[in-house]
Amino acid sequence: MLPIDKWADEFMAGPANDLGRPDGPPEPAYGPPLLGYGAGDDPIWTEFKETVGPEHWTPLEAFNLAFPGRGAKAGDLSVISWVLPQTPATLREQRAAREFPGERWVRSRWHGQSEVVAGLGRFLLQKFEAAGLLALTPETRPEWQMLPSERFTYISRWSQRHAAFAAGLGSFGLCDGLITPVGKAMRAGSIIVKLKLPTRPRPYTDPYEYCLFRHSGQCGRCIKRCPAGAISPAGHDKKICAAYLNQTASHTAALWPDLADKYGCGLCQTGVPCESRIPPCPAPDDHEA
Ligand code: SF4
Ligand code: SF4
Repeated sequence: MLPIDKWADEFMAGPANDLGRPDGPPEPAYGPPLLGYGAGDDPIWTEFKETVGPEHWTPLEAFNLAFPGRGAKAGDLSVISWVLPQTPATLREQRAAREFPGERWVRSRWHGQSEVVAGLGRFLLQKFEAAGLLALTPETRPEWQMLPSERFTYISRWSQRHAAFAAGLGSFGLCDGLITPVGKAMRAGSIIVKLKLPTRPRPYTDPYEYCLFRHSGQCGRCIKRCPAGAISPAGHDKKICAAYLNQTASHTAALWPDLADKYGCGLCQTGVPCESRIPPCPAPDDHEA
């Protein structure tokens, strides 16, 4: 058995896990990683064609783009998904935000995404290649796209949150974030490898199992946290959210010149009971925004 969890811990404990702040000492972008494993022939991947859209890749479709003609079968593949939790410093800053995101949040969205979330993918890719295995990170394929969608405004050909859901790492919240054991204030990545890895049954059956509101009508704190009115008891309006995100770039440009044109929000992911854990029921008051 390859030490995949150990590889991820090694990468996250190293210098690459940095927020990329131009001033001051290095600072970790994320906390310790949480990994989950999904089977390439899990029927959930085909179900995503219904729930997300027909354009969403199965692991086999993504694999065949990278390695055509290898005759791989869905059952030969595994998907490894990782969740990287925001740090206490980023959470503190973001909880205090009321309209626009904190500096650390924006840096984790951009520098953190390209150097740490995707960096971990590149690191694992090298490890698998060194072990003589075929592997790919779907989001870095040239064919990967965000596509317009009548139903959802836009959809991804490979949604990291859905991959994490499939790998047993969490269920969705009212705001569309994925509530994991380390909360929904996190970023996720994944890699597909031609190797059969042991998987466990998902610890949930309902896609919204960990959301207090969707499950029991309690909470709804993410509704109050959203400065754009994009979340309601009916769910998350991606169109309103996207329009608000576009406006935030001028705010970051004014405050942090090196972040010019970098949008961000994520206020719905902090100051809520599901920020850093699966929320206990009834909803506690300790993360009241
Ligand atoms: S803040 Fe409450 S309603 Fe919103 S996703 Fe979390 S648990 Fe669900
Ligand atoms: S990211 Fe911001 S605008 Fe979008 S739903 Fe969350 S709080 Fe609202």
